[in-house]
Amino acid sequence: MLQVKNLTFSYDTAPVLKNLSFDVAAGNHFAIIGESGSGKSTLLKLLYGTYDLNEGQIFWKDQEVLGPKFNLIIGPEFMKYVAQEFDLMPFTSVAENIGEYLSNFFPEKKKERTQELLNVVELEAFADTKVKLLSGGQKQRVAIARAIAKQPEILLLDEPFSHIDNFKKQSLRRNLFAYLKEKNITCIVATHDKEDVMAFSDDMIVIHDHKIMAQGTPKALYQNPENKLIAAFFNEFNLIDGQLIYAHQLQVVPKSKLKVTVNKSYYKGPFYLIEGLAGQDKVFFEHKRALEKGTEVCLEKVI
Ligand code: ADP
Ligand code: MG
Repeated sequence: MLQVKNLTFSYDTAPVLKNLSFDVAAGNHFAIIGESGSGKSTLLKLLYGTYDLNEGQIFWKDQEVLGPKFNLIIGPEFMKYVAQEFDLMPFTSVAENIGEYLSNFFPEKKKERTQELLNVVELEAFADTKVKLLSGGQKQRVAIARAIAKQPEILLLDEPFSHIDNFKKQSLRRNLFAYLKEKNITCIVATHDKEDVMAFSDDMIVIHDHKIMAQGTPKALYQNPENKLIAAFFNEFNLIDGQLIYAHQLQVVPKSKLKVTVNKSYYKGPFYLIEGLAGQDKVFFEHKRALEKGTEVCLEKVI
């Protein structure tokens, strides 16, 4: 497994990460979430050995991951890292980019493997296209395929679907995570998108204020968000009498103590998100139909 022990790091004097410890079991999918600037990308880079730690250690099985002071080449053999700003060969084709690290001694095998990888990222039609002609999202998919070409033991993904449009994102996400599970590749993903986490991560950490604020399965953190930051990651929520209640947990009932006046209805597809006012306080709840501004309704928490 991957073990992170008391990791502390700063670029200059201000600490970015303070005393982080966590384990990731081999084959597991692990998510790092946190607000922008909380240090997710920094943590991934540290796991890859990009910088020297101020304190602490990182191990994969019995091997320590060391920074540039101890290594000429950054990044251990068994790991691949797909950065937020991916780095490809613009003037060569998609297939060549993906196959760059595959051996030329077995051309048939190489072709087969490249085809398999093109399938995973759904770029079969672009095999011969030069990378510079691709969109940002297509380039991101090439970067992912390139990273898994030689089957690393660990894959580090930084906001892996951030440039990919909604038409492709859902199926690509399912394909990629299923492929990684099938090949038993340990995957660590930094993201601010709950869709990358909910159905796909075995475990997750929330980074806040330089530390791990919470750790657990997505289900555990979703069902019992310890605070507003965690609840906000998952869904629209309310703080009512000190209790965090998601918008979908409130339903309209004939009578209750919580009376709100409808202010606005937002169409969400399967439901409307309704913004109501209880005095000065905004209350969000979900409803099958739009409600007219000024309508008064009573709300109750669904058990
Ligand atoms: P996230 O990925 O969660 O948005 P980052 O890891 O990119 O956060 O950044 C964490 C903090 O470290 C931020 O305050 C950012 O400004 C700072 N930072 C990131 N990269 C560098 C760098 N190369 N040099 C100095 N500071 C950096
Ligand atoms: Mg980042």
